[in-house]
Amino acid sequence: METNRLVTIPYAFGKCESSGRMYNFARAAAVLRGENISDRKAPGFPFDDTDPYKVLEGASYALAVQPDPKMSAYLDRLIALIASAQEPDGYLYTTRTIDPRHPHPWSGSARWVNEQDSSHELYDAGHLFEAAAAHYQATGKTNLLHVALKEADLLCKTFGPATNQLHYWPGHEIVEMGLAKLYRVTGEQRYLALAKYFLDVRGSRPGGDDYHQSRIPPVDQTEAVGHAVRAGYLYSGMADVAALTGDKDYVRAIDTIWENCVGKKLYITGGVGARPDGEAFGSNYELPNLTAYNETCAAVANDFWNERLFLLHGDAKYADVLERTLYNGLLAGVSLDGTRFFYPNPLESAGDYERSPWFGCACCPGNITRFLPSLPGYFYAQQHDGIFVNLFASGTADITLDNGRKVVLTQETRYPWDGAIKMVVATDKKSRFSIAVRIPGWARNEVVPGGLYHFMAAATNEPVTLKLNGETVPLKIEKGYAILNRRWKTGDVIELNLPMPVRRVVASENVKADAGRVALQRGPVVFCAEWPDNPDGKVRNLMLPDEQLLAATFEPSLLNGVETIKGRAFNVSKNAGGSLTKTEQDFKAIPYFAWANRGRGEMSVWIADSETGVRLP
Ligand SMILES: [Zn+2]
Repeated sequence: METNRLVTIPYAFGKCESSGRMYNFARAAAVLRGENISDRKAPGFPFDDTDPYKVLEGASYALAVQPDPKMSAYLDRLIALIASAQEPDGYLYTTRTIDPRHPHPWSGSARWVNEQDSSHELYDAGHLFEAAAAHYQATGKTNLLHVALKEADLLCKTFGPATNQLHYWPGHEIVEMGLAKLYRVTGEQRYLALAKYFLDVRGSRPGGDDYHQSRIPPVDQTEAVGHAVRAGYLYSGMADVAALTGDKDYVRAIDTIWENCVGKKLYITGGVGARPDGEAFGSNYELPNLTAYNETCAAVANDFWNERLFLLHGDAKYADVLERTLYNGLLAGVSLDGTRFFYPNPLESAGDYERSPWFGCACCPGNITRFLPSLPGYFYAQQHDGIFVNLFASGTADITLDNGRKVVLTQETRYPWDGAIKMVVATDKKSRFSIAVRIPGWARNEVVPGGLYHFMAAATNEPVTLKLNGETVPLKIEKGYAILNRRWKTGDVIELNLPMPVRRVVASENVKADAGRVALQRGPVVFCAEWPDNPDGKVRNLMLPDEQLLAATFEPSLLNGVETIKGRAFNVSKNAGGSLTKTEQDFKAIPYFAWANRGRGEMSVWIADSETGVRLP
């Protein structure tokens, strides 16, 4: 988070400036002022406006944690620039404003006519709404919120079930989530109603397809399909609407899609979207490693979705998936120095992958930039007189209960490297409330809900323990939480210990790509073997028999300080006569999120544990 705040956010704003994304707003503003501009060239993509919105959103979340007057002033200037590019009725889409007769070829000849296909007008609006809600919540300022509400009101007039309104569905979802956020910050029912309308209308008539999740209406969908980022945003919007309206059909639909995704389409890293073709979900159990697409944005969307389902159901299994994605498939999207980004996140490399400084279609850097600073919002939740503790890291949270009691929770831990977590409670007045501490699935012998992956052997180490003021509390787990309900006073101490042995994970036999292979996990972190740490720089032909002992050690000088797993493995190759030769050698694995920070080379998450799984050089 600190690298993101100090490096990635300024870096990403710099890229938005140097690539002309701010210039697009300036040109649109000049046209609106009646100036005759000479450069009317269309932006690279009709959704280039979203990149400044996304970085602005991230910067806002960062400001909520760490005041920064210079950044705050920069945001105010940027917001003024964005506002100046908004048409009088609220429409905000620079490529059409810059040149209404020759906008980007994807934009269509008039407002909205290409929305279901490629114009991304509602996608741009959705990102504006997300940024505006974050900026308002973080700073209390309404300058960006004002711009967003003006456009949201235009959408409320333009789209809806009435005969004089348009009945298009959004081509690239996110406006649904954005409207739900505007509803949360303003309490205006019409924004929630429009979010639900955009869901209801989707697939309501012929012409839709699975790529856009528009072949059938969302309430009738049962499987995670199509473009994985669009899908993740749709499912997040469905979860918002299900939670905020209580609509039972939406609750049933979103639960069914989630079970399909987590049970049949989720990588061990928490990544989703197996296919490069269409950046899409594959069929059930189609989880190739070398060609896994796993767009960084899809991992971010997966966390949006799981957070919302947690808020809907209060079940820790969603936080389990969220945590898996966070520490593995999502975090791999950015380099350790904060300036290089992955678009796809494969689980195996033959040496051809490297992060890039930026992309023409820059969705992934923007999503990393906005998600990481929003993380504090994922650690805790509050309902009535209860607190949920979902994630673990050192820090302090100020929480207000429904009865007005103020609680300060302070965590001290080295998580995810160490499973000892100490929480100190402070209250303004001694009072009764509950603290529900998540006992992660991985600490309860469950890799993922639904059984797509399982641990090879039961952990033989010490059990999970929970102590209150030094006394052991019997573990009674409900929906993944150990619930402590009592009269709390300042100075009460909760100590959770989650043992972190190295575990071998195997996939369901339905996953052909992982047959004869194991993955290594310790705590929530998934490991991989990478070329610099193993003899000859070869890791795809390694064999790690199940009986080989593995030990974890912390290496403070490696990759900013990571836990590594070491043991002995076999390098397998074919000799001139065609028979296999096995050479025993040292083996080392690093956390998957930290790979590709030392140049190109081989990497593999899944490692053969028998000759049949070995990939010969
Ligand atoms: Zn992306």
